[in-house]
Amino acid sequence: VTTLKGKKVALFGLGGSGFATARALVAGGADVMAWDDNPDSVVKAGAEGIPVVDLRTIDWNALSVFVLSPGVPLTHPKSHWTVDLAHAAGVEIIGDVELFVRERRAHAPDCPFIAITGTNGKSTTTALIAHVLQSSGRDTQLGGNIGTAILTLDPPKAGRFYVVECSSYQIDLAPTLNPSAGILLNLTPDHLDRHGTMQHYADIKERLVAGSGVAVVGVDDSHSSLIADRIERAGTKVVRISRRHALADGLYAEGSRILQASNGAASEIADLDGIQTLRGGHNAQNAAAAIAACLAVGITADEIRSGLRSFPGLKHRMQPVGRRGRVVFVNDSKATNADAAAPALSSYENIYWIAGGLPKEGGITTLSPLFPRITKAYLIGEAAPAFAATLGEQVPYEISGTLERAVAHAAEDAAGDEHESAAVMLSPACASFDQYKNFEVRGDAFVSHVAAIEGVTMLIG
Ligand code: ADP
Repeated sequence: VTTLKGKKVALFGLGGSGFATARALVAGGADVMAWDDNPDSVVKAGAEGIPVVDLRTIDWNALSVFVLSPGVPLTHPKSHWTVDLAHAAGVEIIGDVELFVRERRAHAPDCPFIAITGTNGKSTTTALIAHVLQSSGRDTQLGGNIGTAILTLDPPKAGRFYVVECSSYQIDLAPTLNPSAGILLNLTPDHLDRHGTMQHYADIKERLVAGSGVAVVGVDDSHSSLIADRIERAGTKVVRISRRHALADGLYAEGSRILQASNGAASEIADLDGIQTLRGGHNAQNAAAAIAACLAVGITADEIRSGLRSFPGLKHRMQPVGRRGRVVFVNDSKATNADAAAPALSSYENIYWIAGGLPKEGGITTLSPLFPRITKAYLIGEAAPAFAATLGEQVPYEISGTLERAVAHAAEDAAGDEHESAAVMLSPACASFDQYKNFEVRGDAFVSHVAAIEGVTMLIG
């Protein structure tokens, strides 16, 4: 980061992205003072040559800017002490995405920059776009909320493409966010613990698309739909997306087909049929948004179609990991509650469902409309008895106890049925902590149990 060379910058929050930000600022010649409430992080940063200073002791009036980690509360329910000090001194508060935006503006204002937000599907859409760009030979940088801190990416230069997933916290800290194409996928109540009201949450997300060259907005929920209308009236170019109904203008899904409409005339731009990694209506929304954004930055329809077909999917999210004959094995370990398991259960039929773990409030009662898709359930972990009670007479089940036993039994049962296809699916609707360190470790365990089954061809590297 060169735009703050020689300037005094305070930084709070030395987690992963905070560390990367501090390093980038130091490398760019800023006079950095970094701090964290966690003494271990402070010691670690100091040991790595990041200047650490207790921010209670500095002169806040001398700062050019205050850089805050997106993990720290800005407004709700109670702001952080550093935020109070910054406000008192009238210092601007920004995050790493804003630093990137300023870097891009200074050095390569025309380099294509796609930013993605929404309540659900952000990572999938981000990864899909990056895959399409990469496979069409573009110099592609992928980062943000999806995992790679934005300031560890290669610096902006002409012809380099950026695909950046933004959480609402990151948008909140990026006052001049101006992507070439911005995506707002959908908006449903989430994270309200921190943002307070749905309106405040929606307002933050709106800023990403309002500042975009082209705004791609999913219009299947009322909040996003109102945002699309409002920013269009204010002069932003909007491309609407729907997975539920035809549009006169925009991109919409009809079954597995994605249609592009203009002035009421529609034609097919892609067909997702047979693309295992993009099954389900929710992925039609993700794919339509990805297509619209790629078109907006000059990727051809042919390049897009070819990229969609080779999308490897994201780990632990409805990921087809193995196959034996008619039976596909699907890792959806990321589904840590009932809502999160619903898309996977809606996207397959004849499901041998592995579920359970550390139960969450509400259990799986909301999934009952999807029970007819489940041929048998294999219950693991602490939630097994409660899930069994909910499944009751409606769905045959066994208490498998361990994931290993569940996979073995499900594979055996699925092999013996008469259907054209079957899915053995881990979509646990539970946290993993009773049996695993996290959902990633649980998903990896599923994959290794699948790989151990005789005759299975693995679909992943
Ligand atoms: P995020 O990054 O927003 O958390 P992901 O792309 O990681 O979203 O997807 C997480 C889970 O959310 C998926 O496994 C799927 O169950 C669900 N999901 C994905 N896309 C959508 C969508 N467009 N609408 C609703 N749910 C979705």
